[in-house]
Amino acid sequence: ESFSDMCLHQSIMKDIAYHEYTRPTSIQAQAMPIALSGRDLLGCAETGSGKTAAFTIPMIEHCLAQPPIRRGDGPLALVLAPTRELAQQIEKEVKAFSRSLESFKTAIVVGGTNIEKQRSELRAGVDIVVATPGRFIDHLQQGNTSLSRISFVVLDEADRMLDMGFEPQIREVMRNLPEKHQTLLFSATMPEEIEALAKEYLASPVQVKV
Ligand code: AMP
Repeated sequence: ESFSDMCLHQSIMKDIAYHEYTRPTSIQAQAMPIALSGRDLLGCAETGSGKTAAFTIPMIEHCLAQPPIRRGDGPLALVLAPTRELAQQIEKEVKAFSRSLESFKTAIVVGGTNIEKQRSELRAGVDIVVATPGRFIDHLQQGNTSLSRISFVVLDEADRMLDMGFEPQIREVMRNLPEKHQTLLFSATMPEEIEALAKEYLASPVQVKV
């Protein structure tokens, strides 16, 4: 499968060409058509496989299909990642594939950085939030953002998030999402805890492995 077979938005195709991604990596070829179809996905893939674009591009496509965000609206999509560094890498990729989309907004919400700036960005209304779980919950509890419009969630490096003790925060998010939402869960390993999480929160997921 090639990127041009995936019926992607024209500006995303341009950005793919700009980044010289000539053909999809294995995880992209497997995961993107499923994610684009709206199904839940359980992806077993490591960093370096191209998994970030595999979820970022379908996530942007999903957001483009929703009514536009207005000030005060909660985000449409959420990515939870274990570390600030990974969240920054993901945000970079989201920006890379949305740079020509006018008024498309992304916020990064991680610990150890200015919470005031994050608060004003979130309150202004963003399409996508890329976050570490602890800081995201802080903002939720402070009323700076909400789950009410989220219809696309990615749990990236879920095994590492569990190792770092973020299971309560992940569950807090997952159980309070609107009923209608799509979930993609990526993990390098599939221990029992991840399988349990997937069983609980993913709806008839398609499993892909690289
Ligand atoms: P990731 O596993 O998402 O961290 O991606 C690993 C690296 O592969 C990143 O530097 C990406 O920019 C690059 N990459 C992702 N998809 C492709 C592709 N289809 N063709 C070439 N490079 C890619």
